[in-house]
Amino acid sequence: MICVSIGRGRHKHMIAEHRHLVEQGAELVELRLDYIDREVNVKRLVVDRPCPVIITCRREADGGKWRGTEEDRLTLLRMAIAEGVDYVDLEEDIADSIPRFGKTRRIVSLHDFQKTPDDLEKIRDRLCQLDADIVKIATMANNPHDNFRMLRMIASSPVSTVGMCMGEIGTPSRLLSGRFGAPFTYATFHHERALAPGQLSFRQMREVYHYDDINSETEIYGVIGDPIGHSLSPLLHNAAFRREALNKVYVPFRVPASHLDEFIRDCRELGVKGLSVTIPHKEAVLRHCTRVDGAVKGIGAANTLVFEDGEIVGWNTDYRAAMISLDRELKTQERPTPLAGHQALVLGAGGAARALAFGLRRRGADVVICSRTRQRAEKLAKDIGCRALAWDDRSKVKAEVVINATPIGMHPNVDESPLDKNHLRPNAIVFDTVYNPEQTLLIKQARKRPCRVITGVEMFVGQAALQFKHFTGMDGPVDFMREQMKRAIGAVKY
Ligand code: NAP
Repeated sequence: MICVSIGRGRHKHMIAEHRHLVEQGAELVELRLDYIDREVNVKRLVVDRPCPVIITCRREADGGKWRGTEEDRLTLLRMAIAEGVDYVDLEEDIADSIPRFGKTRRIVSLHDFQKTPDDLEKIRDRLCQLDADIVKIATMANNPHDNFRMLRMIASSPVSTVGMCMGEIGTPSRLLSGRFGAPFTYATFHHERALAPGQLSFRQMREVYHYDDINSETEIYGVIGDPIGHSLSPLLHNAAFRREALNKVYVPFRVPASHLDEFIRDCRELGVKGLSVTIPHKEAVLRHCTRVDGAVKGIGAANTLVFEDGEIVGWNTDYRAAMISLDRELKTQERPTPLAGHQALVLGAGGAARALAFGLRRRGADVVICSRTRQRAEKLAKDIGCRALAWDDRSKVKAEVVINATPIGMHPNVDESPLDKNHLRPNAIVFDTVYNPEQTLLIKQARKRPCRVITGVEMFVGQAALQFKHFTGMDGPVDFMREQMKRAIGAVKY
């Protein structure tokens, strides 16, 4: 179940938001009395409540807004219990002084906004002894391992326990707590009105992650990177899992480079089944792979990990998807080297450039790498056996295939292009890996020449569909994923 926290300054707004949320399907809400900026009337808030409520009145020291006296705060909590509210949230230090009464269930809580303490289990056991119906522990995640410790603590608790790590790194704990036995998780009414750091919106929880369908059998997948907040992969994969009625969830894991090794060990322990991999981990994950496919070896990077039978298998679906799109455009895939004798220009020398340059070389093209940082271009050229040229000389290449593997042209810099339009040769293939927007300036100008174009959306959807196949054994629903993706970059910004 998802508990939606409501913090509004006026009673009437809190009541209206509560009603609205119930119309949207909310089954439990937390009313934050500390947000009300006038004398609090608990009865008015709860007398006609449209769904069960948790009453919370948080002090500033615990991350709340209550500025009144402690005595008044305790009086409010006692009044809420006297009104017969469904739950009351009591911090550890006051739980003893507010006795159980009537049907109101007691949530005994602890917050730590600095860290996730080492002794989570001990803290939980202490809270359990305070006549708790539910224990709630919310702590700040400073590294991805904190999520795993939190989930492990929930799973081993003798009392129903809501546990979550705050901050962006803590997001997986909020999404997966139900998988490990938490009775509910907290969400905010709107993503711009988070009441705790890293809180997701009710809509995200339901429409993207289908939180209420997660149970102890749900298989865990995700994407690792740093940063990760912008990733569209959770949207695509969760939608595809749901479409195929698979009991799987796909979670964004923000993993700083220095925590990768520990994270992979934790994945094994928690039974994670598969991961998409993005910047900066595509090369580093190789040291954890027990098996990789041939392209991963050649490229030196993987964007997909599958955990199976004690093995970690690495794939590169960026490469496969890009080559499927390219081969479709070449229409000569039956020849082993359809690009023999053709000049290809790769702009950029990062992960995407590496995958594409490798594929172009395999197809026989004469590849030139141009990248802002010359040494990086030279290193890539040496690795795959081609030439590097200074970034400023990129327009001198008479390319029949042009690949943009830099972020130039990406939102919000939509008026930029990595190559002057006059240097696009009619009938050349122009492949822009940037997918937001799909119609980059480069793609628009290439269409006008006219060139043959391949967009980053095609590549992104293609790589996601191939990952889906690795994760499930089923063909990825490409058209459906494309539709989700276009809708996401066109309109919906969660
Ligand atoms: P990366 O490893 O960080 O490499 C980025 C490359 O772009 C580097 O060579 C970098 O040069 C260069 N670059 C960055 N900003 C630049 C600028 N303002 N001017 C000139 N060069 C610049 O990133 P990546 O993973 O390869 O991704 C590159 C692009 O591909 C991104 O736009 C990403 O969204 C896209 N991509 C798309 C897909 C898809 O499925 N459609 C998949 C993967 C990647 P320096 O070395 O000088 O920094």
